[in-house]
Amino acid sequence: NVRTRFCPSPTGTPHVGLVRTCLFSWGYARAKGGEFVFRIEDTDAARDSEESYHQLLDTLSWLGMSWDEGPDIGGPHAPYRQSQRLDVYADVIKRLLEGGYAYEAYSTNEEVEARHRAAGRDPKLGYDNFDRHLTEAQKAAFRAEGRNPVYRMRMPDEAITFTDAVRGEVTTPGGTVPDYVIARADGSPLYTLTNPVDDALMKVNMVTRGEDLMPSTPRQIVMWRALVELGLADAEPEYAHLPLIVDERGKKMSKRDPRSNLLQYKEAGYLPEGVLNYVATLGWSLSGDRDVFSVAEFLEAFDLHDVKSNPARFDEKKFDAICSDHFRGIDSAELTDMLVPRLREAGLLAEVVTPEQRHVLEVAVPLVQERCTTLAQAVEMLRFLFCGTEVELDETSAKKTFKEGADEVLDASIAALEGIDWTTEGIEEALKSALVDGLGLKPRKAFGPVRVAISGKTVSPPLYESMELLGKDVSLARLRAARA
Ligand code: GLU
Repeated sequence: NVRTRFCPSPTGTPHVGLVRTCLFSWGYARAKGGEFVFRIEDTDAARDSEESYHQLLDTLSWLGMSWDEGPDIGGPHAPYRQSQRLDVYADVIKRLLEGGYAYEAYSTNEEVEARHRAAGRDPKLGYDNFDRHLTEAQKAAFRAEGRNPVYRMRMPDEAITFTDAVRGEVTTPGGTVPDYVIARADGSPLYTLTNPVDDALMKVNMVTRGEDLMPSTPRQIVMWRALVELGLADAEPEYAHLPLIVDERGKKMSKRDPRSNLLQYKEAGYLPEGVLNYVATLGWSLSGDRDVFSVAEFLEAFDLHDVKSNPARFDEKKFDAICSDHFRGIDSAELTDMLVPRLREAGLLAEVVTPEQRHVLEVAVPLVQERCTTLAQAVEMLRFLFCGTEVELDETSAKKTFKEGADEVLDASIAALEGIDWTTEGIEEALKSALVDGLGLKPRKAFGPVRVAISGKTVSPPLYESMELLGKDVSLARLRAARA
């Protein structure tokens, strides 16, 4: 039974790397019919914040991810907040010391460096495992000096090998990783201890995380082996180290890169299906290299063993293309339901939506849907349909369009439209015959002033349909207003 986990520290923004780790852990558990554990690693009070935690939860629930065990819902291995598990770690530290897996270390950094120097080695080589062999008398002497020890885990002399779902077999030669600190002098445990201990106690058997954490893996394996020997853990887990996410220059994408905070896409009105789809392509692809897929398709097909190890490039164009595809593909009625609150917020609809407004939405949303990527863009494109005779002119559009010959176009349009039956076909016919045949203009030039007069912009939903929706009076009033 597959058990994966996502164990963020509540710091910073819900950035794309973090969310991808969650997506792949969740996806793997769901694809394999396993369980997904959510744990908060909040033992660093100085850096942790409630705001970060809530932003992350917001982002994950918007994207539709859910867990089977976690701080908000509990579970058989509760608590799922590390700050509430300090007694668990204290007990493990005690057992590691008793079993000889860990030991008290009194050396200061200066002392370590001095020993390296005396032996002709690079002083920055790191810890030299000196305290491994202290006698009880030596320890007592240090304590008498008022020193408090840190606790270090003993690394083996042999090479450490593990199997990675993404990279295959990974080996760290023996003797290259110094004995490492698992708890400070005051007994407070470090990530090096809490993370593998909780994974073990929570029976996680697939550890998914970013490639940047790979250097810590041999240490965690040594911890797992000790826990197995102490009877606290089952077998060692499998690992999946996810590829780096890089920007267009091939550099590691910074957590502070403004594009990387995924919460902003929610606010801008991207559809979660699109964002989730894009994030899933960062290191993985659906067979046949189809870029656009649904959540259900992802959950059906995803396997951590198919993730590629080469860096994944964050590509804004592809992001937008995938999101547009989802925007086009969503059911128009569903989209309308999402747009109504935003139209209200923009002051374009009142609390009660009239039957006429419903009708306008029914016709216009499918038209707008083809041309947008976000709810915010759709609201802007729908705006002119909900503002009576007074359409707000976009300045650049007006400048570009209302120049020589525009008045003539508007006059001819008004004259041609006054007497007709107000249907999309009737409007099209009247305008074409007045402007293309009558004034001899090329279609592309002919309709610019009409479009801007009607919609306020050079880019709008189809013109004739829009005019029909607005009705004759409003349309003619706008043409006249533009003429004035
Ligand atoms: N709390 C750690 C972090 O956010 C988790 C790392 C891991 O997945 O092992 O970096």
